[in-house]
Parts: sequence; C-alpha cells; structure tokens
Amino acid sequence: MKDVLQFIFVPTKNDPEAVKKSYYGSWKSTFFVMIVSLIISVIFMVLSFVNPSIFGLTQHYHQYCYMALFLIVLVWCLGSSYAIRDYKTRYRSFYFINTATAMLLFVWVFVFTILSTLTRQNVDTTLFMTVSLIVPLCIYFNPLNYLLTVIPVNAGMVFFLRYTTYTMGITNYGEIWNFTIFALFQICMGIIMLFTKYRLNRELTRADQQRREIEKLNKAQNSFFSNMSHEIRTPINTIIGLNEMILREDVSEEVVEDAINIKAAGKLLLNLINDILDMSKFQSGRMQLLIEPYRTGDMLSDIVGMLWIRAKDKKLDFNVDVSPEIPAELVGDEVRIKQILINVINNAIKYTSEGSVSLNVQCEMKEDKICNMIYMISDTGIGIKSEDIPYLFSAFKRVDENVNKHIEGTGLGLSIVKQLVDLMGGKITVNSVYKKGSTFIIEIPQRVEREGQVGQYDFEKSHGAAKRKDYVPKFEAPEARILVVDDNEANLMVVSKLLRSTKVHVDTVISGAEALRRTLNVRYDVIFMDHLMPEMDGVECRRRIKEQTGGRCRDSAIVILTANADEENRALYARENFDGYLSKPVSGEELENELYSLLPKEIVKITGNRSEIAEESISWMNGNKKRKSVVITTESVADLPPEVAAKYHIGLLPHKVRTEEGIFKDGKEIETLGVLKYMEDPTNNVLPMGPTVREAEDFFAKQMETANNVIHISISSLVENSGYAPALEAAKSFDNVFVIDSAHLSSGQGLIAIEAARMAELGMPPEQIIEKIEVLKKKVKTSFIVDNLDFLARAGQVGNGVANVVKSLMGRPVLVLRKGKMGVGMTHFGSRENAWKNYINSALAVPAAIDTRILFVTYVGLTKRDTEWIREQIEKKMTFDEIYFKQASPAIAVNCGAGTFGLLYMEK
Ligand code: ADP
Repeated sequence: MKDVLQFIFVPTKNDPEAVKKSYYGSWKSTFFVMIVSLIISVIFMVLSFVNPSIFGLTQHYHQYCYMALFLIVLVWCLGSSYAIRDYKTRYRSFYFINTATAMLLFVWVFVFTILSTLTRQNVDTTLFMTVSLIVPLCIYFNPLNYLLTVIPVNAGMVFFLRYTTYTMGITNYGEIWNFTIFALFQICMGIIMLFTKYRLNRELTRADQQRREIEKLNKAQNSFFSNMSHEIRTPINTIIGLNEMILREDVSEEVVEDAINIKAAGKLLLNLINDILDMSKFQSGRMQLLIEPYRTGDMLSDIVGMLWIRAKDKKLDFNVDVSPEIPAELVGDEVRIKQILINVINNAIKYTSEGSVSLNVQCEMKEDKICNMIYMISDTGIGIKSEDIPYLFSAFKRVDENVNKHIEGTGLGLSIVKQLVDLMGGKITVNSVYKKGSTFIIEIPQRVEREGQVGQYDFEKSHGAAKRKDYVPKFEAPEARILVVDDNEANLMVVSKLLRSTKVHVDTVISGAEALRRTLNVRYDVIFMDHLMPEMDGVECRRRIKEQTGGRCRDSAIVILTANADEENRALYARENFDGYLSKPVSGEELENELYSLLPKEIVKITGNRSEIAEESISWMNGNKKRKSVVITTESVADLPPEVAAKYHIGLLPHKVRTEEGIFKDGKEIETLGVLKYMEDPTNNVLPMGPTVREAEDFFAKQMETANNVIHISISSLVENSGYAPALEAAKSFDNVFVIDSAHLSSGQGLIAIEAARMAELGMPPEQIIEKIEVLKKKVKTSFIVDNLDFLARAGQVGNGVANVVKSLMGRPVLVLRKGKMGVGMTHFGSRENAWKNYINSALAVPAAIDTRILFVTYVGLTKRDTEWIREQIEKKMTFDEIYFKQASPAIAVNCGAGTFGLLYMEK
C-alpha cells in the first residue's frame, strides 16, 4: 500500500511526456475544463436554493447533493491545479486525482440515487445526469477511462430503473427511455472522443516519424558535408602547399603573380567550404563549442596581425583600441570567437574603399567571474540601408546587391556569425548610416579564468605578413628528425617540400603500420600524424607508438595534421593528448612555427630575421577612451540649461525654425529673443520644424562613437512638428538606438532625460532604463501660463474666436500637457501678478507630493525682475534643491509668445 501511495504522490522524474501526450499536450484546455465543471456545479447549487420548486418533492435532497457536488468539484480543481503547477514531477498525482474524482462522483451519485429511491419510493435522475456532465470533464483527456466508467455505471442505472419499474412499480416507462437515450448519448460522446484521440495520436505518430526521418536526413547531410570538407581539403592542401613552394623559388614576376592568385583562390575556396560546413552543422543542430581557457591578448594579436595587412593593401587606416582592463585569460571557444571577429572585420575592410576600419574592445564585469566582452567594429564604408538591416543576418542573403555585386561574397558569413554569437549566449547588433559607414557591436559573455588584465598589450605586428617573395626559413635544424604519417602521397610530398629549407631530416610513411615499424628503430623528435587512414587511424597509431615495447619514440612529440577541422574532432585530439593540432591545408609558416615550438632548442639555429617584415603603421590607442554603455539624448526643445546637459552628458538634437529669411537651427543659429522680436511684425511667419531623418541619423551616428547604446527621449509625438517620427525612422539604421516618446515637451521632456541620464550613470542596462522611463512619464507635470492665445492661434493650434474671447476677458490661460497633447486648462483672471501668483499656487498646490530635487521655470521673454519675482513666490510656497530658470528654445517660444512661463517638475 505504501508503495502504491508513494508511486502516486511522490514526485518523480519519469516520463511526464507520456502523460502530457495523453492529456492532449496542453494544460490550457485542462484549466478550461476545470472552470466549466466548477461553473456547472455552482449553477445547479444556486438553482437548488434560488428556485427549489423545479426539483419538486426532492428539493432538500437536491440542495444537499449539489452542495456536496460543488465541494467535490472544488477539491478536484484545487488538487489538480496544484498537481499541474509542477506537472513534470507530479503528473501521476494529477492523473490519479482526475480519475479518482470521476469514479467517486459516479459511485456517490449511483449509491445516492438507489438509497433515495428505496427510502422515498421516488426515482430522481437529475443529479445523476448533472454528475454525468461533470465526470467527462474530469477525465475528458482520457476517453478510454471515460468509457470504462460510463458504460457500466449507465448500464447499472438502466437496470436499476427497470427494477424499480417492474418490481417496485415506482417508475414509468418514459423515464426508462429518457434515461436510456441519455446513457446512449454519453456513450456516443465517449466513442467520438476516443476516435478523435485515436486520430490525433495517429497524426502525432506520423509527425514523430517524419521528424525522425528529417533528423536522419540531416545526419546524412551533415556527414556528407563533413566528408566533402575532408575530401576537398586534401587536394587543396596539395595545391596551396605546392603553390607556396613556387612562391619560394626564384621565378619570374608573372609566375609569382599567378601563384599569388592561386593562393588567394585557394583560401577563398577554403573559406567557402568552412562556411558550408558550419551552415550544415547549424541546420542539423550539431554545432558545438569547444570551451577552453585562452589568452585574450594573443587571440586579439592573431586577429589584428592577420587583418591589418588587408586594410593596408586597401590603403585604409586600421585603428585598434583595446581597453587595458580586459582579463588576460578567459574561458570560451577561442577559434569561434576569432572566426566571428575575422568575419566582421573582413567585411568592414571589404565594404570600405576609403577611410578607416576600427576595432574597439572592452569588457564589463558581471557577477560570478563572468565578463561581457564587447567588440566594436566600425568602418567608414558603404553602409547599409535601414530597410536592409533586418535581413543582414539571413543566410544566403546579400543586401544591396546592385552595389555589392563586384565584391565577392556568399551572404553566409554574417548568418554564421549571428548563430555563433547566439550559441555563445551573446548578441550582435548593427548601426549603420547608408553611404557613411557601419558599426557592428558584438557582446559575448566569457568566464574569467584567472585574475589579471591584459594591460598595455604589446600586439605582435609580424603575424601573417605573408607575401614574402624572398623566403627565408625561420630556423634550420639539420640534426632534427621528423616523421610524417599520411595515407595520401601528395600530402607527404607537400610537408616534405615545405620543410625542406629548414634542413630537418624528413621521413614519410604511408600507413600506421609502417609508422610503427619505423618508430621501433628510429628516434624522431616530432611526428606529424594524419587522422583518417585505412586500417589504423592516427589516434590509434599514436596510442601504439606511446605504448610500443622497445619503441624509440615513446616520448616524442606527436602532432595531428588533419583535414578534420570540426570541434568534435578537435576535442577528441585534446582528449587523446596530442602535442599539437594543425589543420589542412597547412602553410609552411604554420609547420615551421609548430616544429620550432616542439624541437629541442639546442638543435635549432634561428635564421629568419623578424625585422624584415614590414613595420607598417597601425594606430594603437590602447584603451584610453572608455566608451559608455548608455548615453541619453534629447532635443533642443527640451529646454535644458547648457550646464545641466553637460553635467549629465545629455546630447541635444537641434530642432529648427523656419522664417521668411530661411531655416535656422534652434539655439545654435537663432536665439529666442531674436525670434520674438521678428514675430512682433504679425506678417512675419515663423514655423517650428523638427529635425529631418537624415539629421537624426547623423546625430545618432555621432553619439554612437562614444557609447554602445543611445536612448533618445523625444518631444511628445502628438505635438505639431514633433521630432519623434524622424528620430524613430532614423533609429531603424541602428540596432542600439532606442527612441522613446517622452509624451512631454520643453523642460518636462528635459526632466525625463535628466532622470534617465542619472540611471545611465548608475550603470543600468538600456532595457531597464526604458522600463523606468515609462513610469516617469506619468510623474512629470508640464504646464505654462501664457499672456494670451494669439501665438497658438497664429500657429493654428487654437481657433481665433477662443483666443479673442480669452483676451477680451483679460484672462491668462494655462496650457497643460495631457496625454502628450497641449490643451488649454484653467484661465486666471485679474492683474498679471495675481494671475501668475494663482498659477504658482495651483501648480504647487500639494508640496508634499512634489519631488523637490529639481524645478524648471521655463519662460519666454521675461525680464530679470519678472524671474526674480517668480523665484520669490515659489520659495514662499516650498523649497527645491535646484531651481533652473531657462529661456525656452525658439521652437517652443514661437507657440507661446513673450510673457509665458511654466513650472515643470516631477511628482514623487
Ligand atoms: P558576404 O559574403 O556577402 O559578405 P555576409 O553575410 O558577410 O556576406 O554579409 C551580408 C551582407 O551584408 C553583405 O552582402 C553586405 O551587403 C552587407 N554587409 C556586411 N558587412 C558590411 C559592412 N561592414 N558594410 C556594408 N555592408 C556590409
């Protein structure tokens, strides 16, 4: 018994999927069913009290029964919901509760009907029928259970009714027929449910079978691509290797040029194969990362060394800015991170014809020794159209093909980059202005292996300076003996030839067995071993060499030299303790480097002269400019005093004012007082204008130079000439620019920007700041008292009639911002001073509710005496930490006219 209870109620991790499947795989419908049954039981219970007469003589009996029914259903619902909450472990309890409730209901109602019939001499099947409605709901998801319960119970009831009719004479035939029809209906329902479930299961099985077939096909495709990659690498190895030999010879210029072209074509082909292989791995879900510790500085140095020469060939400046605070040792997949960066930097070089390409590397420390590495790659190239940005990471898609068709590429690179970054739990974003340049920001979380920073890393500029016409080997080691094991003769020849100039003694063998025969008698310093060979593979051969009784190479270094370039195999080689790993096609330089690191130093004589490699200028700006995570920007119409904008590092996008004389930039090219003077002549029309999309794009591009994210707080989208729409359009070119509708204007908008800037300074992530801004919007109060409505009438924002009425009554209206739109609120009458005083008192009516840190008094055309008087009145009412008086920007001023001021603050 204990075992049975344990089986039912103790959480288990056994196959919950099976049960989930039998419940149609969805808990939503289960909840629906529970609610329906609860409603049925409540309706009947209420009915039995509200209108008991419909139950005739048995009303009390029904009342008790329905109350009991309601309780049973309630307990069932609560029990099941509890079990569902953790269905992964409690699914058996859930299943049991449902079936047990169904049984209990039926047995209870059956026994009750019999007992009540026998004692009252009166048969009543309504309760039975009600329960019959609920029972299928309890076990709805298991029609077989339902049928097995419903058939015997209904049959029992029919027999019972017959018995009461024939033997006791208390039921009439009509009642038997009624009930029989009801019972048949129930059974039909069960059969339909069973059939539906059978069909569903058949579909599920079919889908499952299809999925398995697709998986099988994927596997086959994957292994095909793997094999293809292996098979193609082998001949490319020969082509590239022998081509390198040609480049080393003293041959004519023309031959050198041809050989250089062959080399470039070989590399391109290789990249293509690698990309196709990666793509197939992603498609079959078999892409894996190889997580190992690596030295950050070396990794970056390798990349820079490889790419600066390409930038130099295109006469581009290559700027590298690496923060010295980056941890020196990280844990991650170094090879894949290199692949990501090389791809993106390569694109930057490829799609830039003049100017510069920059790599900026920073890190943000997170909790638990995790650091977010941020790589930013900027170029001054052709840029990407904002409508193309959403397709940038799609496979096989090359954007703006008309312009790019002469630039080689497949459209696979960025798609693979994105998938790799996703696999590493990072993110990649792009900010680009068409025809001006692009910035890709890649964030990858990495574990910090050990304390310590890269500091001012001395990047080695010598890597990859490949096009050496006068080849000089790095070293010579005539006493060294090495063995190359490969089943492909061409590969053996390539390695021997590539190492010829180092004067090492190279022996080659064509199989593992032959290698073992050699290692028995000859001591080799280093053995280069192929992996896939018939009969005995490289891994097996290495093991045997290490264990060979009497063998002379038991402690020789063995390097795997293979065309199997994927992570699975790399992990295998690491597990098998190979002393090195080289992938085919292998270059002479790689072979020499590997050999140099493994040969005993006493037999090696350095001959190559490192300084012969061109010391071209790369601009190294080691991490002095720390980029911000988030910068806040708003518009000139936010009426922030310059010192406040500077204090909080808030960038301002200028609005403009159009006059008869031309268009002028707010604050920069035109001043408020000048505009007011100009507007004194009623024939002079002045129109405020928001920025254009192009201006906003340029503004954001500038901001992105200093920060990884930009949050732009725009003027309310509902005011005339709002800057919101152009800013939003411009932001489409930038993944990291977020435009928020402040729903305010003037210093109200400015207040939101200040608060956001405070949050940014505290290091809050952009998503969180945006969330908080939404709350802030409701707390900011924006209102202005104006002398009259003439200016608004002139701008067409209120009717001339309204303006005239207010004016003739000597009223000074208050403009209030409600739901992002300016409207006329209360009007204060009387002298100017009285009206102003009343406005101040009503605006600051509840000082306790006001955030006392900042108050903005934004005004248009007031004298110093006016502003001093206003300050006095405010201070009489309450104290603020800071009160800023700020002349409104021309774009705002043209709507209000002189004699306007507003109190703008935030509520607590
Ligand atoms: P491709 O092999 O065509 O370079 P990618 O996947 O690397 O493929 O890039 C996809 C497309 O994105 C390119 O065709 C190009 O139009 C665009 N692109 C990528 N990087 C840049 C860049 N730095 N500047 C401009 N366009 C770029």
